[in-house]
Amino acid sequence: MTSPPVAARGVWRDVVGQPETIAALERAVADPASMTHAWLFTGPPGSGRSVAARAFAGALQCPDGGCGECRECRTALDGTHADVDVLSTEALSIGVAQTRDLVQLAGRSPSIGRYRVILVEDADRLTEQSGNVLLKALEEPTPRTVWLLCAPSLEDVLITVRSRSRHVRLRTPPVAEVAGLLNRRDGIDLGMATYAARAAQSHIGLAKRLATDEGARIRRRDTIGLAVRIRGVSDAVGAAADLLQIAEQERDRSLEARSTHERERLLETLGADPAARTQPPHVRAQINALAKEQKTRATRFTRDMVDRALVDLMSVYRDALVLRAGSPVGLVNEDARPVVEEVATAFTAEGLLRAMEAIATARERIEANVAPLLALEAMAVALRVPAGR
Ligand SMILES: [Zn+2]
Repeated sequence: MTSPPVAARGVWRDVVGQPETIAALERAVADPASMTHAWLFTGPPGSGRSVAARAFAGALQCPDGGCGECRECRTALDGTHADVDVLSTEALSIGVAQTRDLVQLAGRSPSIGRYRVILVEDADRLTEQSGNVLLKALEEPTPRTVWLLCAPSLEDVLITVRSRSRHVRLRTPPVAEVAGLLNRRDGIDLGMATYAARAAQSHIGLAKRLATDEGARIRRRDTIGLAVRIRGVSDAVGAAADLLQIAEQERDRSLEARSTHERERLLETLGADPAARTQPPHVRAQINALAKEQKTRATRFTRDMVDRALVDLMSVYRDALVLRAGSPVGLVNEDARPVVEEVATAFTAEGLLRAMEAIATARERIEANVAPLLALEAMAVALRVPAGR
């Protein structure tokens, strides 16, 4: 047994499993002479990059270096601080116009705070052109302006931008610490929090959703169950369709209400009558543009959800390998142990590795824009449970 993790303090309290990172950031806060004007936070999805960046923003503004209680700390954390601007996007890319606005903002002195902080949550989505606009600001920094850029990895950021930033790397936080956060911050029962943190493989956002949304738990269990369901080719085709359907349900649940709301707001802004059977051309053009944007978002979301389901599915074969090897390492799917045991008995170790490879290939193909159903069918055929073992 490991001892219970010590929670970070003050403004850092929601930054879990990153003691070295916190120490480095605290040193920079304590010694303004060593302060850098551009920071790049990288870490796997769900590791808390933007949470860490916000905490850093708070520590920079706080007269006490990040007490976590004062107005500066609190407003920096909740995104309302006048001198902390956060750009988060769901679009596929951050455009030039948007970046110009930020750069212009960066040229101004802070209004009340010690620094002007500009946080870009998805710096990996800067296009080459917008990256070049940003680069200008990084090359000729404004005193007391600090850029905090977040991205999954260094490779996701334009090399010119990354070479002018100081790098902060977050690691995947330990399961116990993620569970502790859900318990402390969200009031989730520790047993449920631990299950969710383990099942989400320490992805903080997903863990929270699993812990708080029964539908998400059911969809996950359905995904895990596929591993023992695929006997023949027709099962494989059915399993692929199910995987896609699970992802689409997740998408509809998450996006539909928002898309409707956006459309209503747009019509309102344009002064158009929502009930009108036909809209004037300028309104139509805007509605079409919004619809296109929403479609892109839905496609991206579906792909992300399919990918997440594949990570879940892969964890079953990984767990089966752990069991076969008699390793003391914990199972990701402790809650679905019977499924894992069945898979461990049905497949040889080599078969398990092949299954994981098939899943990895499907993920790569979907990432490379192959139609998800095609990629999933090819994968599912490779996941058939060997007969007669
Ligand atoms: Zn404070």
